[in-house]
Amino acid sequence: MSEDVYPRLKAYEGQAAAVAAVGKDPVNEPMIRHWCEAMGDTHPAYQGPDAVAPPTMLQAWTMGGLSGHTDRSAAYDELFALLDGAGYTSVVATDCEQEYLRPLRPGDRITFDAVIESVSERKTTKLGTGHFVTTRMDVRVAGRLAGTHRFRILKYAPAARKPKETEHRRPRPVINRDNAGFWDGVAAHKLLIQRCGGCRTLRFPWLPGCNGCGSQKWDTVEAGGEGTVYSYVVMHHPRFPAFAPPYAVALIELAEGVRMVSNVVGVPYDKVRIGMPVRLEFQCVEPGLELPVFRVEGEG
Ligand code: ZN
Repeated sequence: MSEDVYPRLKAYEGQAAAVAAVGKDPVNEPMIRHWCEAMGDTHPAYQGPDAVAPPTMLQAWTMGGLSGHTDRSAAYDELFALLDGAGYTSVVATDCEQEYLRPLRPGDRITFDAVIESVSERKTTKLGTGHFVTTRMDVRVAGRLAGTHRFRILKYAPAARKPKETEHRRPRPVINRDNAGFWDGVAAHKLLIQRCGGCRTLRFPWLPGCNGCGSQKWDTVEAGGEGTVYSYVVMHHPRFPAFAPPYAVALIELAEGVRMVSNVVGVPYDKVRIGMPVRLEFQCVEPGLELPVFRVEGEG
C-alpha cells in the first residue's frame, strides 16, 4: 500500500458529492410513523395534525433506497475508485453528526447538496489501515437550511488477524461530547447523573436533551452510591472474547431513582437476586479501564 495516493485523495476535499439532489419523497406521516414505531419513540410532537418529523430522521429523507440516487457526483465515484485501486476495498461507517436548524414537517420537499469535506491521512485502526472520508450534507426546504448531516466512513484494507492478547481486551467506552462529563466523573470516582435544567428530572444514561420537557439545559447530581438490583440476566451465549461466561449483567436501580446497567461483584453469578442491596465502587477491570460496579452489601 503506497502512501503517495494520499495527495491524490486529498485533492477531492471540497469537491461536491451530490449537487441539487432531491428527496425521493416529501416528508410524510407514514415514514414518520414507521420510524417512531421502529425506535419505540412515542413523543407526542411526532403525532397529530401539527406533527414534526423526528430530527434524527434527517438522513432518511435523503436516502436513495435500493434504486439509489442519480445525483451522485463523478468526483465521489472517482474518489472511491481511487481508494479501491489502492487496496482499501473494505468500508465501514464510523460515525455521524447532525445539526438541526428548523423542524421538518409533513409536506416539506427537501433538497440537498453534499460535499466531500475531508479525507484523512492514512490511519491504522483495529479493523485495518485506510482513510476516513467525511461527507457533509446540507438539507434544505424551500432553499432554507433545515439541517446538516455529517457522515464519516473508513475505507480500509482489512488487517491481518490480530495477536491473541489484544483479542481479549474489554471493549472501550465511546466517549463523545454528549457523555464526556460522565466519564470525567468516573475518572474522579464520581457517578454523575444528569439533571434536567427545565423540569429537574434525573436521567441516565446521559443524553443531550430531556425526554420529558425537551430542555437541553442540565447539570449533574453525584449518586450517593446506594442501589438495588432491579433486574439481571446471566449471560451464557453468545461468547464475547473479553468476557468469560457465565456472568451476571444487572440493571441497578440507584437510590436517586435512575437505573444503569453494570456488573455485580462480591457474589457468584448464580447468587445475584432481584432486590439485593448493592453499593457503588470503582473497579479497575483492566489496565486503563476503570468502571463503576456494584458490590453486594455485606459480602466483603
Ligand atoms: Zn426536563
